[in-house]
Amino acid sequence: MRRARIYDRCHAQVNAPPPRQGPPGPVREKIPACDNEGMSERGPIEYWLSDMDGVLVHEGRPVPGAEEFVRRLAASGKPFLVLTNNSIYTRRDLSARLAAAGLAVPAESIWTSALATARFLADQRPQGSAYVIGEAGLTTALHEAEFVLTDLDPDYVVLGETRTYSFSQITRAIRLIEGGARFVATNPDPVGPSPEGSLPACGAVAAMITRATGVEPYFIGKPNPLMMRTALNRVGGHSESTAMIGDRMDTDIVAGVEAGLETILVLTGVTGKDEIARFPFRPSRVVDSVADLVDLV
Ligand SMILES: [Mg+2]
Repeated sequence: MRRARIYDRCHAQVNAPPPRQGPPGPVREKIPACDNEGMSERGPIEYWLSDMDGVLVHEGRPVPGAEEFVRRLAASGKPFLVLTNNSIYTRRDLSARLAAAGLAVPAESIWTSALATARFLADQRPQGSAYVIGEAGLTTALHEAEFVLTDLDPDYVVLGETRTYSFSQITRAIRLIEGGARFVATNPDPVGPSPEGSLPACGAVAAMITRATGVEPYFIGKPNPLMMRTALNRVGGHSESTAMIGDRMDTDIVAGVEAGLETILVLTGVTGKDEIARFPFRPSRVVDSVADLVDLV
């Protein structure tokens, strides 16, 4: 809860207009709680997108029911992708981390903000160049997208998630942006979780660079629906027959709504049941956990 408030406050600053969430404080006009009725007109779900943290795993441990849900998805043959704003790891790394939690998700069924960023940049400027602050998840994705990584007059400064932000790297990024490089960041999250407490994340470092340069980054990860659209393209799905499962109203659900997907909120992560009505948008369904979705697959 506390973390969610920190996120929302910082998110509002980093991603300025438009606000994606209603004002804090008591809800003046009650929006009816989701009753999961009237949602069947969309027809059966043929494609599945799912957030990772808070939906399938929690602090490296599987959410109860996630193992069976993933197994059922794989057995069904229906295309699915696990989405994450985390740009630190490559798909293979994340697949191994999920396997350690007992979840069999192949690398090609994982889609990260780093991959979405690389896809976006490759479309925008084929064989372009970038100065990157980030880890293997991001540098590998950009290399595979035929980008040149350089600090000499790059087309872009690309900021990702890392555990080793350095003053000299940030200084270099600031000077390149001042010199005309375009500013892109993988995800707007200002803090990330760790067992010891909050860690400064990509959005927080982006805010520092913005403060120094006056230039706002273009954020690719959730809640930017671009993340959903690139994922949809990846599975070859259509929005009418695709569902997005998430644990956050302010990222997963709003991005799914904006991409025209069926949205399913699970209550095993950040957003609590009593918070849903505060938002100006509603998920198509609310379930306790992915265990309740096994029979939908
Ligand atoms: Mg999550």
